[in-house]
Amino acid sequence: MSRRPVIAGNWKMHKLQSEAIELTNGIMQALKDEEKSALPEVIIAPTFTSLYAANKALKDCGCGKVRLAAQNCYFETQGAFTGECSVEMLKDAGCEYIIIGHSERREYFGETDEMVNKKAKAILANGLIPIICCGESLEQREAGVTDYHISSQITKALRELTKEQVAKSIIAYEPIWAIGTGKTCDSVEANRVIAMIRNVVKGLYDANTADSIRILYGGSVKPETIKEQMAQSDIDGALVGGASLKVESFSQIVKGAM
Ligand code: PEP
Repeated sequence: MSRRPVIAGNWKMHKLQSEAIELTNGIMQALKDEEKSALPEVIIAPTFTSLYAANKALKDCGCGKVRLAAQNCYFETQGAFTGECSVEMLKDAGCEYIIIGHSERREYFGETDEMVNKKAKAILANGLIPIICCGESLEQREAGVTDYHISSQITKALRELTKEQVAKSIIAYEPIWAIGTGKTCDSVEANRVIAMIRNVVKGLYDANTADSIRILYGGSVKPETIKEQMAQSDIDGALVGGASLKVESFSQIVKGAM
């Protein structure tokens, strides 16, 4: 089964609207000579306040090479939830994907596995694709509980989803100790964990579903690391933080995944 690679840029809490437009246009300009069918699925995830501006820039270009994601959502449809955004609102703003369960949201904003599951259900019910993050801390890795922890995160995140929903979802394996630290996880080890995640999906569903789901690596991905990462059997792409904030590094990563 051949899975289309995905390169997703998580802009975190960076970029004002004017900067978001500049970066969006810069990425599209850098990819203008590439055949759309040869490119990986390229996704950018600006902040809520820049979604409208980035979406407008994408629409104005009309090349369809770059797609829009949000960095978070709430699982309820509407109501008295001050400060939150529903999936329908994000779809209305042009998002096709939503990142959920990022370790920064788990650590600083109390996002639990149960919330990740509710968000995944809401996202899929609205026809969008969740990018479900998982990953172990350094303490968990050193204690030898990486696989146990990640299996548990994935099993809880996918609870009650159908195999059709899981097959079109995206998982991002992001070891917490590799995020924003410059310390990339060894590609062979990242591939081992990702293959383990695929096996968990196979156990919960079946071989077809496990073969279909795209599983990305995230954690200090750089233009210099992407080729080796993409050469691994089970790594289907990358979720990129720091290196997605500059046209040059992000477009090099995209091209490195072709
Ligand atoms: C991330 O935030 O998802 C991430 C992987 O960040 P960085 O690439 O900066 O490590």
